[in-house]
Amino acid sequence: MKKVYMDNGATTRTHPEVLQAMEPFFLENYGNPSSVHGFGQEALKGTEKARDEVKKLINAADPQEIIFTGGGTEADNLAITGYAMANRERGRHLITSVVEHHAVLHTCEYLEKEMGFSVTYLPVDKYGMVSAADFREAIREDTILATIMSGNNEIGTLQPIKELARVAREQGVTFHTDAVQSVGSMPVDVQDWGVDMLSLSGHKFHGPKGVGALYVRRGIKLHPHIHGGAQEKKRRGGTHNTPGIIGLGKACELARKNLPEKEKEVSALRDKLIKGIQDNIDEVVFNGHPEQRLPGNVNFCFRYIEGESLLLSLDLEGIAGSSGSACTSGSLDPSHVLLATGLSHEVAHGSLRLTLSIFNEEEEIDYVIEKLPGIVEKLRQMSPLYQKS
Ligand SMILES: *Cc1c(COP(=O)(O)O)cnc(C)c1O
Repeated sequence: MKKVYMDNGATTRTHPEVLQAMEPFFLENYGNPSSVHGFGQEALKGTEKARDEVKKLINAADPQEIIFTGGGTEADNLAITGYAMANRERGRHLITSVVEHHAVLHTCEYLEKEMGFSVTYLPVDKYGMVSAADFREAIREDTILATIMSGNNEIGTLQPIKELARVAREQGVTFHTDAVQSVGSMPVDVQDWGVDMLSLSGHKFHGPKGVGALYVRRGIKLHPHIHGGAQEKKRRGGTHNTPGIIGLGKACELARKNLPEKEKEVSALRDKLIKGIQDNIDEVVFNGHPEQRLPGNVNFCFRYIEGESLLLSLDLEGIAGSSGSACTSGSLDPSHVLLATGLSHEVAHGSLRLTLSIFNEEEEIDYVIEKLPGIVEKLRQMSPLYQKS
Protein backbone atom coordinates (compact mmCIF):
# COMPACT_ATOMS: atom_id res chain seq x y z
CA MET A 1 0.00 0.00 0.00
CA LYS A 2 1.07 3.56 -0.70
CA LYS A 3 2.16 5.41 2.45
CA VAL A 4 1.75 9.14 2.61
CA TYR A 5 2.86 11.02 5.72
CA MET A 6 1.10 14.34 6.16
CA ASP A 7 1.33 14.76 9.92
CA ASN A 8 4.49 16.84 10.03
CA GLY A 9 2.89 19.24 12.50
CA ALA A 10 3.01 16.37 15.03
CA THR A 11 6.55 15.30 14.20
CA THR A 12 8.82 14.90 11.19
CA ARG A 13 11.04 12.26 9.68
CA THR A 14 14.62 12.56 10.95
CA HIS A 15 16.85 13.74 8.12
CA PRO A 16 19.40 11.02 7.21
CA GLU A 17 22.22 13.59 7.49
CA VAL A 18 21.05 14.37 11.03
CA LEU A 19 21.26 10.73 12.02
CA GLN A 20 24.68 10.47 10.38
CA ALA A 21 25.96 13.48 12.33
CA MET A 22 24.68 12.01 15.61
CA GLU A 23 26.15 8.52 15.30
CA PRO A 24 29.78 9.27 16.26
CA PHE A 25 28.51 10.93 19.44
CA PHE A 26 27.06 7.58 20.54
CA LEU A 27 29.94 5.36 19.47
CA GLU A 28 33.14 7.43 19.70
CA ASN A 29 32.76 10.88 21.23
CA TYR A 30 30.53 9.64 24.01
CA GLY A 31 32.25 11.61 26.80
CA ASN A 32 30.38 13.96 29.10
CA PRO A 33 30.85 17.50 27.74
CA SER A 34 31.43 18.67 31.33
CA SER A 35 34.48 16.37 31.73
CA VAL A 36 38.03 17.68 31.35
CA HIS A 37 39.50 14.72 29.43
CA GLY A 38 39.72 14.33 25.68
CA PHE A 39 36.48 12.40 25.36
CA GLY A 40 34.63 15.18 27.17
CA GLN A 41 36.34 17.92 25.22
CA GLU A 42 35.44 16.33 21.86
CA ALA A 43 31.81 16.16 22.99
CA LEU A 44 31.96 19.77 24.19
CA LYS A 45 33.34 20.89 20.83
CA GLY A 46 30.33 19.21 19.22
CA THR A 47 27.70 20.77 21.49
CA GLU A 48 29.22 24.25 21.11
CA LYS A 49 29.25 23.93 17.33
CA ALA A 50 25.58 22.94 17.53
CA ARG A 51 24.87 25.94 19.74
CA ASP A 52 26.41 28.13 17.09
CA GLU A 53 24.20 26.54 14.42
CA VAL A 54 21.05 27.27 16.44
CA LYS A 55 22.28 30.83 16.94
CA LYS A 56 22.82 31.27 13.19
CA LEU A 57 19.44 29.87 12.16
CA ILE A 58 17.51 32.34 14.32
CA ASN A 59 20.10 35.15 14.07
CA ALA A 60 20.78 35.47 17.79
CA ALA A 61 23.59 37.87 18.72
CA ASP A 62 25.58 35.35 20.79
CA PRO A 63 25.60 31.53 21.13
CA GLN A 64 25.39 32.01 24.91
CA GLU A 65 21.82 33.18 24.39
CA ILE A 66 20.86 29.58 23.45
CA ILE A 67 19.83 27.16 26.24
CA PHE A 68 19.43 23.52 25.22
CA THR A 69 16.30 21.83 26.57
CA GLY A 70 14.50 18.52 26.30
CA GLY A 71 12.20 19.87 23.56
CA GLY A 72 9.66 22.58 22.82
CA THR A 73 7.46 21.91 25.84
CA GLU A 74 10.38 22.33 28.20
CA ALA A 75 11.54 25.50 26.43
CA ASP A 76 8.05 27.00 26.87
CA ASN A 77 7.93 25.97 30.54
CA LEU A 78 11.39 27.39 31.23
CA ALA A 79 10.63 30.68 29.47
CA ILE A 80 7.32 31.28 31.22
CA THR A 81 7.84 29.80 34.69
CA GLY A 82 11.53 30.73 34.77
CA TYR A 83 10.82 34.36 33.89
CA ALA A 84 7.73 34.67 36.08
CA MET A 85 9.49 33.32 39.15
CA ALA A 86 12.63 35.43 38.64
CA ASN A 87 10.64 38.64 38.14
CA ARG A 88 7.61 38.19 40.38
CA GLU A 89 8.60 41.11 42.60
CA ARG A 90 8.02 43.43 39.62
CA GLY A 91 4.48 42.23 38.95
CA ARG A 92 2.32 39.16 38.63
CA HIS A 93 0.39 39.67 35.41
CA LEU A 94 1.00 37.69 32.22
CA ILE A 95 -0.55 37.96 28.76
CA THR A 96 -1.02 35.12 26.29
CA SER A 97 -3.60 34.10 23.67
CA VAL A 98 -6.43 31.57 23.57
CA VAL A 99 -4.87 29.69 20.63
CA GLU A 100 -1.54 28.76 22.22
CA HIS A 101 -0.18 25.23 22.40
CA HIS A 102 -0.95 23.47 25.68
CA ALA A 103 2.73 23.76 26.64
CA VAL A 104 2.05 27.49 27.03
CA LEU A 105 -1.60 27.47 28.11
CA HIS A 106 -1.20 24.88 30.85
CA THR A 107 1.96 26.59 32.15
CA CYS A 108 0.07 29.88 32.40
CA GLU A 109 -2.82 28.10 34.15
CA TYR A 110 -0.38 26.57 36.61
CA LEU A 111 1.07 29.98 37.49
CA GLU A 112 -2.46 31.32 37.85
CA LYS A 113 -3.72 28.54 40.10
CA GLU A 114 -0.64 27.75 42.17
CA MET A 115 1.60 30.81 42.15
CA GLY A 116 -0.78 33.75 42.46
CA PHE A 117 -0.31 35.20 38.96
CA SER A 118 -3.15 36.59 36.90
CA VAL A 119 -3.28 35.88 33.19
CA THR A 120 -5.07 37.63 30.32
CA TYR A 121 -5.95 35.30 27.42
CA LEU A 122 -6.24 37.43 24.26
CA PRO A 123 -9.02 36.49 21.82
CA VAL A 124 -8.44 35.93 18.09
CA ASP A 125 -10.34 36.85 14.91
CA LYS A 126 -11.87 34.33 12.50
CA TYR A 127 -8.42 33.58 11.07
CA GLY A 128 -7.02 32.83 14.50
CA MET A 129 -5.05 36.06 14.65
CA VAL A 130 -4.36 38.21 17.71
CA SER A 131 -4.70 41.98 17.35
CA ALA A 132 -1.91 44.34 18.44
CA ALA A 133 -4.55 46.82 19.64
CA ASP A 134 -6.09 44.20 21.96
CA PHE A 135 -2.62 43.38 23.20
CA ARG A 136 -1.79 47.00 23.94
CA GLU A 137 -5.03 47.39 25.83
CA ALA A 138 -4.40 44.28 27.95
CA ILE A 139 -1.05 45.55 29.25
CA ARG A 140 -1.26 46.68 32.88
CA GLU A 141 1.07 48.32 35.35
CA ASP A 142 1.98 44.88 36.75
CA THR A 143 2.38 43.03 33.41
CA ILE A 144 5.83 41.45 33.25
CA LEU A 145 5.64 38.94 30.40
CA ALA A 146 3.70 38.23 27.22
CA THR A 147 3.88 34.89 25.43
CA ILE A 148 2.32 34.62 21.99
CA MET A 149 3.13 31.90 19.46
CA SER A 150 4.42 32.68 15.99
CA GLY A 151 2.86 29.90 13.86
CA ASN A 152 -0.20 28.03 15.07
CA ASN A 153 0.27 24.27 15.15
CA GLU A 154 -3.36 23.49 14.26
CA ILE A 155 -4.49 26.07 11.72
CA GLY A 156 -1.12 27.46 10.60
CA THR A 157 -1.91 31.13 11.22
CA LEU A 158 1.13 33.36 11.68
CA GLN A 159 0.76 36.00 14.37
CA PRO A 160 2.03 39.56 13.73
CA ILE A 161 5.00 38.90 16.01
CA LYS A 162 7.07 41.90 14.97
CA GLU A 163 4.20 44.27 15.70
CA LEU A 164 3.34 42.57 19.00
CA ALA A 165 6.98 42.57 20.11
CA ARG A 166 7.24 46.27 19.32
CA VAL A 167 4.21 47.03 21.52
CA ALA A 168 5.72 44.92 24.31
CA ARG A 169 9.05 46.72 24.09
CA GLU A 170 7.38 50.17 24.15
CA GLN A 171 5.51 49.16 27.29
CA GLY A 172 8.46 47.51 29.03
CA VAL A 173 6.98 44.01 28.84
CA THR A 174 9.25 41.03 28.09
CA PHE A 175 8.10 39.08 25.03
CA HIS A 176 8.36 35.33 24.48
CA THR A 177 7.22 33.49 21.38
CA ASP A 178 6.66 29.75 20.89
CA ALA A 179 8.17 29.40 17.41
CA VAL A 180 8.24 25.60 17.46
CA GLN A 181 6.23 25.37 14.22
CA SER A 182 8.06 28.22 12.49
CA VAL A 183 11.75 27.53 13.10
CA GLY A 184 13.14 25.43 10.28
CA SER A 185 10.20 25.96 7.95
CA MET A 186 10.30 29.72 7.44
CA PRO A 187 12.77 32.55 8.14
CA VAL A 188 12.99 33.36 11.85
CA ASP A 189 15.14 36.28 13.02
CA VAL A 190 15.00 37.10 16.73
CA GLN A 191 16.66 40.49 16.24
CA ASP A 192 14.45 41.56 13.36
CA TRP A 193 11.36 40.29 15.21
CA GLY A 194 12.46 42.02 18.40
CA VAL A 195 11.57 39.12 20.71
CA ASP A 196 13.27 38.52 24.07
CA MET A 197 12.76 34.75 24.24
CA LEU A 198 11.90 32.11 21.64
CA SER A 199 11.24 28.35 21.86
CA LEU A 200 12.15 25.79 19.19
CA SER A 201 12.12 22.00 18.92
CA GLY A 202 14.31 19.65 16.87
CA HIS A 203 11.75 17.03 15.86
CA LYS A 204 9.47 19.56 14.14
CA PHE A 205 12.09 20.20 11.45
CA HIS A 206 13.80 16.85 10.83
CA GLY A 207 15.95 16.80 13.96
CA PRO A 208 15.69 14.23 16.75
CA LYS A 209 12.87 14.10 19.31
CA GLY A 210 13.37 15.20 22.91
CA VAL A 211 15.74 18.08 22.19
CA GLY A 212 15.03 21.75 21.68
CA ALA A 213 16.26 25.15 22.70
CA LEU A 214 15.22 28.38 24.30
CA TYR A 215 16.68 31.62 23.03
CA VAL A 216 17.07 34.09 25.90
CA ARG A 217 18.27 37.57 25.04
CA ARG A 218 21.30 38.72 27.05
CA GLY A 219 20.31 40.39 30.29
CA ILE A 220 17.02 38.51 30.80
CA LYS A 221 16.84 36.84 34.22
CA LEU A 222 15.41 33.34 34.51
CA HIS A 223 15.04 31.00 37.45
CA PRO A 224 16.05 27.43 36.57
CA HIS A 225 13.08 25.08 36.63
CA ILE A 226 15.22 21.95 36.69
CA HIS A 227 17.60 21.98 39.61
CA GLY A 228 20.86 20.08 39.33
CA GLY A 229 24.36 20.67 38.03
CA ALA A 230 25.82 23.85 36.60
CA GLN A 231 25.09 22.97 32.96
CA GLU A 232 23.73 25.65 30.62
CA LYS A 233 25.05 28.38 32.95
CA LYS A 234 23.00 26.97 35.84
CA ARG A 235 19.78 27.56 33.94
CA ARG A 236 19.14 23.90 33.06
CA GLY A 237 20.82 21.17 35.09
CA GLY A 238 21.41 17.65 33.82
CA THR A 239 24.01 15.92 31.65
CA HIS A 240 23.79 17.22 28.10
CA ASN A 241 21.98 15.04 25.58
CA THR A 242 25.03 15.22 23.35
CA PRO A 243 23.81 13.19 20.34
CA GLY A 244 20.46 14.97 20.46
CA ILE A 245 22.10 18.38 20.59
CA ILE A 246 24.38 17.44 17.68
CA GLY A 247 21.30 16.35 15.73
CA LEU A 248 19.50 19.60 16.50
CA GLY A 249 22.54 21.55 15.32
CA LYS A 250 22.64 19.57 12.07
CA ALA A 251 18.92 20.13 11.50
CA CYS A 252 19.51 23.87 11.98
CA GLU A 253 22.41 23.86 9.54
CA LEU A 254 20.36 22.01 6.89
CA ALA A 255 17.41 24.35 7.39
CA ARG A 256 19.58 27.44 7.12
CA LYS A 257 21.19 26.26 3.90
CA ASN A 258 18.03 25.04 2.18
CA LEU A 259 15.33 27.29 3.59
CA PRO A 260 14.44 29.80 0.89
CA GLU A 261 14.13 27.10 -1.78
CA LYS A 262 12.38 24.51 0.40
CA GLU A 263 9.95 27.05 1.84
CA LYS A 264 8.84 27.89 -1.69
CA GLU A 265 8.45 24.23 -2.68
CA VAL A 266 6.47 23.26 0.42
CA SER A 267 4.20 26.33 0.10
CA ALA A 268 3.48 25.42 -3.53
CA LEU A 269 2.46 21.88 -2.52
CA ARG A 270 0.30 23.31 0.28
CA ASP A 271 -1.49 25.64 -2.13
CA LYS A 272 -2.08 22.81 -4.59
CA LEU A 273 -3.59 20.65 -1.84
CA ILE A 274 -5.82 23.49 -0.62
CA LYS A 275 -7.07 24.16 -4.12
CA GLY A 276 -7.60 20.46 -4.82
CA ILE A 277 -9.77 20.09 -1.74
CA GLN A 278 -11.78 23.25 -2.44
CA ASP A 279 -12.35 22.31 -6.09
CA ASN A 280 -13.38 18.71 -5.45
CA ILE A 281 -15.35 18.70 -2.20
CA ASP A 282 -18.29 20.90 -1.27
CA GLU A 283 -19.41 22.05 2.17
CA VAL A 284 -15.89 22.55 3.45
CA VAL A 285 -14.63 25.30 5.77
CA PHE A 286 -11.08 26.53 5.23
CA ASN A 287 -9.37 27.14 8.57
CA GLY A 288 -6.65 29.65 9.34
CA HIS A 289 -5.36 32.65 7.44
CA PRO A 290 -5.24 32.41 3.62
CA GLU A 291 -1.84 34.18 3.34
CA GLN A 292 -0.28 34.62 6.77
CA ARG A 293 0.25 30.90 7.08
CA LEU A 294 2.88 28.26 7.85
CA PRO A 295 4.31 26.84 4.59
CA GLY A 296 3.18 23.25 5.25
CA ASN A 297 -0.20 23.67 6.96
CA VAL A 298 -3.58 22.69 5.45
CA ASN A 299 -6.64 22.62 7.70
CA PHE A 300 -10.29 22.16 6.70
CA CYS A 301 -13.54 21.24 8.39
CA PHE A 302 -15.83 18.92 6.44
CA ARG A 303 -19.43 19.51 7.39
CA TYR A 304 -21.60 16.61 8.58
CA ILE A 305 -18.74 14.25 9.42
CA GLU A 306 -16.35 13.56 12.29
CA GLY A 307 -12.63 14.21 11.96
CA GLU A 308 -11.92 10.93 13.74
CA SER A 309 -13.73 8.78 11.20
CA LEU A 310 -12.07 10.72 8.42
CA LEU A 311 -8.64 9.95 9.91
CA LEU A 312 -9.40 6.25 10.17
CA SER A 313 -10.64 6.06 6.57
CA LEU A 314 -7.59 7.98 5.33
CA ASP A 315 -5.33 5.65 7.29
CA LEU A 316 -6.86 2.69 5.44
CA GLU A 317 -5.59 4.33 2.24
CA GLY A 318 -2.14 4.85 3.78
CA ILE A 319 -2.62 8.58 4.39
CA ALA A 320 -1.54 9.94 7.79
CA GLY A 321 -3.15 13.20 8.93
CA SER A 322 -4.55 14.51 12.19
CA SER A 323 -7.71 16.07 13.50
CA GLY A 324 -8.41 18.91 15.85
CA SER A 325 -11.06 16.82 17.57
CA ALA A 326 -8.74 15.68 20.26
CA CYS A 327 -8.67 11.93 20.45
CA THR A 328 -5.06 12.44 21.42
CA SER A 329 -5.90 14.32 24.59
CA GLY A 330 -8.37 11.65 25.59
CA SER A 331 -11.31 14.04 25.47
CA LEU A 332 -14.10 14.45 22.95
CA ASP A 333 -13.92 18.22 23.08
CA PRO A 334 -13.21 19.84 19.75
CA SER A 335 -10.03 21.87 19.32
CA HIS A 336 -9.81 25.01 21.49
CA VAL A 337 -8.20 26.74 18.51
CA LEU A 338 -11.06 26.07 16.08
CA LEU A 339 -13.65 27.09 18.68
CA ALA A 340 -11.70 30.31 19.31
CA THR A 341 -12.02 31.22 15.62
CA GLY A 342 -15.79 31.11 16.02
CA LEU A 343 -16.70 27.68 14.63
CA SER A 344 -19.55 25.73 16.21
CA HIS A 345 -18.77 22.49 18.07
CA GLU A 346 -20.47 20.58 15.29
CA VAL A 347 -18.34 22.01 12.48
CA ALA A 348 -15.13 21.95 14.56
CA HIS A 349 -15.58 18.20 15.08
CA GLY A 350 -15.15 17.64 11.34
CA SER A 351 -11.63 18.98 11.10
CA LEU A 352 -8.68 17.53 9.23
CA ARG A 353 -5.13 18.84 9.42
CA LEU A 354 -2.66 17.79 6.74
CA THR A 355 0.86 19.10 7.36
CA LEU A 356 3.62 18.86 4.77
CA SER A 357 7.40 18.82 4.97
CA ILE A 358 10.37 18.90 2.60
CA PHE A 359 9.95 15.15 2.11
CA ASN A 360 6.46 15.33 0.58
CA GLU A 361 6.13 15.04 -3.18
CA GLU A 362 3.67 16.31 -5.72
CA GLU A 363 2.33 12.85 -6.56
CA GLU A 364 1.37 12.45 -2.88
CA ILE A 365 -0.74 15.60 -3.13
CA ASP A 366 -2.40 14.12 -6.25
CA TYR A 367 -3.04 10.86 -4.40
CA VAL A 368 -4.77 12.64 -1.50
CA ILE A 369 -6.86 14.76 -3.87
CA GLU A 370 -7.85 11.54 -5.65
CA LYS A 371 -8.84 9.64 -2.49
CA LEU A 372 -10.31 12.28 -0.19
CA PRO A 373 -13.53 13.25 -2.06
CA GLY A 374 -14.75 9.65 -2.16
CA ILE A 375 -14.00 9.10 1.52
CA VAL A 376 -15.83 12.29 2.52
CA GLU A 377 -18.82 11.38 0.36
CA LYS A 378 -19.02 7.86 1.82
CA LEU A 379 -18.90 9.14 5.40
CA ARG A 380 -21.51 11.78 4.63
CA GLN A 381 -23.83 9.12 3.21
CA MET A 382 -23.70 7.44 6.62
CA SER A 383 -24.28 10.71 8.49
CA PRO A 384 -27.81 11.46 9.75
CA LEU A 385 -26.99 15.17 9.45
CA TYR A 386 -26.38 15.06 5.74
CA GLN A 387 -29.03 15.73 3.07
CA LYS A 388 -27.57 15.54 -0.40
CA SER A 389 -28.79 18.48 -2.44
C1 LIG B 1 5.14 20.46 19.07
C2 LIG B 1 4.92 21.79 19.69
C3 LIG B 1 5.34 22.07 21.00
C4 LIG B 1 5.97 21.01 21.86
O1 LIG B 1 7.26 20.66 21.43
P1 LIG B 1 7.86 19.23 21.91
O2 LIG B 1 9.27 19.27 21.43
O3 LIG B 1 7.04 18.18 21.24
O4 LIG B 1 7.77 19.19 23.39
C5 LIG B 1 5.12 23.33 21.50
N1 LIG B 1 4.53 24.28 20.78
C6 LIG B 1 4.13 24.08 19.51
C7 LIG B 1 3.50 25.17 18.74
C8 LIG B 1 4.29 22.82 18.93
O5 LIG B 1 3.87 22.61 17.68
